[in-house]
Amino acid sequence: MTTEKSTIALKFDGRAFINGERINALSGETFDCISPVDGRTLTTVARCAEADINAAVLAARTAFEDRRWCGLAPAKRKQIMIRFADLLLKHAEELAMLETLDMGKPIKYARAVDVNSAANCIRWYGEAVDKIYDEIAPTPSTALALIMREPVGVVGVIVPWNYPMIMASWKIAPALASGNSVVLKPSEKSPLTALRMADLALEAGIPPGVFNVVTGYGPETGSPLALHMDVDCIAFTGSTRVGKQIHVMAGQSNLKRAWTELGGKSPNIVFADCPDLDKAVESAVGSIFFNQGESCNAPSRLFVEASIKEKFLEKALALVPGYAPGNPLDKATIMGAIVDQTQMNSVLRYIEIGKSEGAQLLAGGEQARLASGGFYVQPTIFDGVRNDMTIAREEIFGPVLSVLSFTDAADVVSQANQSVYGLQAAVWTRDINKALGVARALRAGTVHVNQYDEDDITVPFGGFKQSGVGRDKSLHAFDKYTETKTTWIRIDSPV
Ligand code: NAD
Repeated sequence: MTTEKSTIALKFDGRAFINGERINALSGETFDCISPVDGRTLTTVARCAEADINAAVLAARTAFEDRRWCGLAPAKRKQIMIRFADLLLKHAEELAMLETLDMGKPIKYARAVDVNSAANCIRWYGEAVDKIYDEIAPTPSTALALIMREPVGVVGVIVPWNYPMIMASWKIAPALASGNSVVLKPSEKSPLTALRMADLALEAGIPPGVFNVVTGYGPETGSPLALHMDVDCIAFTGSTRVGKQIHVMAGQSNLKRAWTELGGKSPNIVFADCPDLDKAVESAVGSIFFNQGESCNAPSRLFVEASIKEKFLEKALALVPGYAPGNPLDKATIMGAIVDQTQMNSVLRYIEIGKSEGAQLLAGGEQARLASGGFYVQPTIFDGVRNDMTIAREEIFGPVLSVLSFTDAADVVSQANQSVYGLQAAVWTRDINKALGVARALRAGTVHVNQYDEDDITVPFGGFKQSGVGRDKSLHAFDKYTETKTTWIRIDSPV
């Protein structure tokens, strides 16, 4: 086993980051940061509450008003954002190790996926910001109407624990690049990399007060941010349950702009004329077990055309042992730990519900690696799932695949769309008309054809229905963090 040894060199600092400084919560209270890898306490973390949020928002507001960041030329902000991205890569080993220890994902992916994607995202928005032009409207020649984008002001960002650095970057990168000040609240289950990112942002030259990180629990730390009268925009990624509350809090307070990236129960549809069955099987299995199934866009409902289901499942089951959970610090591990005991128990409870509602357990179903002291669940596959069963309707957010079957395109589109969610979907067929027809009929923000992996910072990401409001990534994300202003100028032409 090749295990990363550098843990001893890590410095764990759980203090909040406000106005360019690491500080304790004003109350002095902390909470324990427990590693799901082996259950050990890594450090204590500042338990911020309303007074700390007020301090962070004041710092952000002051920085915005004196224009120390939004007043810089876009090309200057670009330079600093690129330096920030470079520093993330310079500290890649450290950040990857923190991410793995804090939330349990395999070190291999923490380094190759999470750190790289976060740095790429910050670089991309930095590079974009001095290449965007505003508009002049086609008005009559007696007037000029300038349509300009201005930063919205103070942006509150609340993110989950499954891809802590990436989820934060998708929001802070466009928000900072367009000149806003930011107060970021990471999940209480994975706060460490966000705090290190703030240290590195300061080192890169983002002025104090522009990027703040407050740590703590949702109701104590997140709610005061979402309810704050001096926060202009709240950008949230997390569960649909809390996302609905975020929109209510925005409405109850100052009608701040509210953007939400929420849950999913994505259908993965495999027709009998799928061009490459082995590839479809590998993708179905690999995508649901990637990140321990803790992905909002995990293809957790697999629809296989009845005539090939038996063959498909035989191939899928052969791959399952390869996903047995391992030590996340082992470079060979591809499935790690579930983020904490609560989440692990929730996944195990869904497995019990699946069994009790009559689904057929084909693989897994149990806790794993008990001796490690950490939190692990076996890769699990249920067959005979019906769309009305709890495990087909609710987001499990763990390594659990529900297999359903269908007879034709109309049947599967109807089943696939019977969900409160609409984040992502896939269709596998060699028939281009069927692929495009089904893709168009699916109510989802992203539809994949004959793959499930394509991803790029240049394309928008977000959901239909209760999967949220707004889009992360791509140039579309700038819409969330800017206001459109029109300036009318009268032209009294002498000629
Ligand atoms: P969660 O909703 O429990 O928590 C998300 C964040 O909200 C955390 O920082 C939490 O502390 C905070 N929070 C909780 N209660 C709050 C409250 N009352 N007021 C303000 N903030 C509060 O979600 P989670 O368990 O951390 O993450 C898993 C969920 O995130 C899943 O539903 C998943 O689908 C979703 N997710 C969506 C996307 C996407 O882009 N659509 C991406 C990743 C994760």
